[in-house]
Amino acid sequence: MHIPSLIEKKRDGHTLTTKEIKSLVDDFTLGEIPDHQMSALAMAVYFQGMSPSETYHLTDAMMRSGRVLKYPEDSPPKIDKQSTGGVGDKVSIVLAPLLACDETWVPMISGRGLGVTGGTLDKLESIPGFNVNLDEKRALKQLEKIGVFMTGQTEDICPADKKFYALRDVTGTLPSQPLIVASIMSKKLAENLDRLVLDVKFGSGAFMKTKEDAEKLAAAMISVGESMKVKTSYLLNPMDEPLGRSVGNALEIAECIEIMQGGGPPDLVKLIIDLAEKVSEAPRAQLEKRLKDGTAWKKFVSLVYAQDGDATVLERLLEQHRSPIIEPWPAKSSGVVKKLDAELIGRASVLLGAGRQRTTDPIDFAVGFSKIKKVGEKVAADEPLFMIHARNERSIVNITPLLEKAIEIS
Ligand code: URA
Repeated sequence: MHIPSLIEKKRDGHTLTTKEIKSLVDDFTLGEIPDHQMSALAMAVYFQGMSPSETYHLTDAMMRSGRVLKYPEDSPPKIDKQSTGGVGDKVSIVLAPLLACDETWVPMISGRGLGVTGGTLDKLESIPGFNVNLDEKRALKQLEKIGVFMTGQTEDICPADKKFYALRDVTGTLPSQPLIVASIMSKKLAENLDRLVLDVKFGSGAFMKTKEDAEKLAAAMISVGESMKVKTSYLLNPMDEPLGRSVGNALEIAECIEIMQGGGPPDLVKLIIDLAEKVSEAPRAQLEKRLKDGTAWKKFVSLVYAQDGDATVLERLLEQHRSPIIEPWPAKSSGVVKKLDAELIGRASVLLGAGRQRTTDPIDFAVGFSKIKKVGEKVAADEPLFMIHARNERSIVNITPLLEKAIEIS
């Protein structure tokens, strides 16, 4: 295929054929299409979009660029959830063990932090020893034993997405609906699921800034999922303020532990149960009970052990990852919190070191924000709006303009 002609075809708003899409994906995966041409194609798709059929074939080709998980006959239903990403979004860490308390398997392949949104794998790696690089054989054995694994994308699962995602991340082409659909759904379809629930975010801290765009994204993902015979459902959820009361890797794991021990912020607990109810066959009351009575917590502890993590430190994680500076950010006036902008808080957390500015950056597990006030809550002048966990004073100075812009008190 003549790649420049395919780029021009898309640039000019024409539809790529199934064969063209397949060979673009296959050749790119094999390294036969250079990054600059694939980036140009991504930008053409960003501006011109893709038809439902093109999106389906792109997803299919990306899924088939690697292996699709296989399970023994008569194994329980395989279920999972995927979020389109948000700030403070730690749902998977509680949801996976919760869903695995029933007769279902949860083969969860997650990602790392991207842009302002945190990544499940980075959060899990704040647990000493936790291994997010399971090979397929080990992952399947773990499913048989405890019904759940949480791992990263291996070289043989959707390698096309791994390469393409890294390229999109640095070429301004992440927020393209068909590219998001293909990226997310190819990975989830490679899990060979029976049921999938999508948590589609909209708002300042999400890829989709408006509810309408999120709704279109959800519809496109449902269409691809159903075409591949996966029972797919979704919830639309706002992402204008951080989810829960913490942002940052170890801080978020600590919040998840609180939830699995029966506590935690109500907004987050509700979202977890809402999503669980969509994809599980267990009644809501039973799901709620499993968070309260320690069943989900026990499952999480067995997951941590199974993946080489040191479960004995879980309840002391914040002692292990303690920032040298923990200081309050006081409210300038009294009133009601009107805005706590998710995107700006997310950017500030990246600058503190909780996320990456370059793909090779190391993650600082200890830094971030805790005890975050929620929109609608009252605050007195000088009362902390949140606690900042920082490595040094310089990073607090760096994020101060972002924080000042992020907050509104009415
Ligand atoms: N998450 C993904 O895995 N891919 C995207 O394109 C966006 C969110």
